Amino acid sequence: MERIDTLILGAGAAGLFCGARTAARGRSVLVLDHAKKPADKVRISGGGRCNFTNLHTDHKAFLSENPHFPKSALARYTPWDFCSLMAEHELTWHEKTLGQLFCDQKSGAVIQLLLDELETAGGELRLQTTIGEIERKDDRFMVSTSMGPISAENLVVATGGLSIPKMGATGLAYDIARQFGHEIIQTRPALVPFTFTGALHEDFASISGVSVPVEAIAEAGPSFVESLLFTHRGLSGPAMLQISSYWNPSEPITIDLLPGADAHEMITTLKANQPKQTLNAALAESFPARLADMLSRQPGMPGTTRLAELSNQQIDQIAQTLKAWRFTPVGTEGWRTAEVTAGGIDTNGLSSRTMESKHQPGLFFIGECVDVTGWLGGYNFQWAWASGAAAAEVA
Ligand SMILES: Cc1cc2nc3c(=O)[nH]c(=O)nc-3n(C[C@H](O)[C@H](O)[C@H](O)COP(=O)(O)OP(=O)(O)OC[C@H]3O[C@@H](n4cnc5c(N)ncnc54)[C@H](O)[C@@H]3O)c2cc1C
Repeated sequence: MERIDTLILGAGAAGLFCGARTAARGRSVLVLDHAKKPADKVRISGGGRCNFTNLHTDHKAFLSENPHFPKSALARYTPWDFCSLMAEHELTWHEKTLGQLFCDQKSGAVIQLLLDELETAGGELRLQTTIGEIERKDDRFMVSTSMGPISAENLVVATGGLSIPKMGATGLAYDIARQFGHEIIQTRPALVPFTFTGALHEDFASISGVSVPVEAIAEAGPSFVESLLFTHRGLSGPAMLQISSYWNPSEPITIDLLPGADAHEMITTLKANQPKQTLNAALAESFPARLADMLSRQPGMPGTTRLAELSNQQIDQIAQTLKAWRFTPVGTEGWRTAEVTAGGIDTNGLSSRTMESKHQPGLFFIGECVDVTGWLGGYNFQWAWASGAAAAEVA
């Protein structure tokens, strides 16, 4: 029977990082994964340039049943700590927007950093390994695997959430958590595009590829000023992905197509200056022509009417549509494309300092499997690093 100090399940961002830091404390560490390659989600992240952290990291950028839970780990391992590590590996970065830091080299360089850290610290990585039964025997974890049984003093579960099953996502972390008496906060796809049926679906599909800055508002949650992308399935782009994390089925969403502008004043001024212009042509001054066309076909939008003929009541209605366009998505694209999993292992059962289970000493949960979900923009990797670093202090 192979004996190890710390066995880590999952060679993603959280598992590799935790493995390297745990091994650096002199512990014998083995990281197991069923995939052919490690950290596939790092590879595809940030359009291939890995948005590895966010300078505005704060617990307020995370969803959790206990919003205070991530505070301790995030405070002890900050975005600058990961930047220092990048610099040690001669990697460089740039801020794209809203504090989002992207690697100047390809995301493969971040994976190499994680693998080098693990190897230098003396940790071992084993891929293409299936994980079977887990038992607690003589104060140790006995884990059966396709490479034979392993006995470990500590077990760190870092197998992520349910998003993108095609990439190897499984519910293993939740199964292990339940086995040891943990509650699971209902999981749901997050950072995911919205889908529509009927007329809206056709309208959105007809302008697929058009992108505009908006303020997007979910019924329960903050609003986000970012871009919206019309697609042949519905609505995507950062603004939509952000509010999808706060969206509950059958709730409407609200879009302000003119963030920071007074739509009523804009139409009234245009009416005074260019009274012969149609509403459609007027909208095309503020929006891409295809979007202006689609908007002027919406209920209450008299697209072919000349501005001079618009009544005050009509201008009110148009301004209302532009500032608070409200409609209800039929659903989301689901696990197939969701960037992350909202919900997960209830933080009530974990130490916020070390991520150790309160039910089973020696058992840890880190990364996306925990009920801590970041906004779009590098927050989820920062949680992977911070929760991994917290567990590595004692695992
Ligand atoms: C397309 C896309 C782009 C993204 N871009 C960004 C970004 O730019 N910035 C950002 O902050 N976040 C981004 N994210 C989110 C980020 O990738 C995740 O939050 C992060 O990878 C979670 O890390 P993790 O280690 O907890 O889980 P994962 O990275 O999912 O790693 C889990 C590992 O466990 C393994 N595993 C799962 N089940 C089993 C099993 N049963 N047996 C053995 N091994 C198993 C998997 O193979 C995987 O290697 C993106 C996500 C996607 C899908």
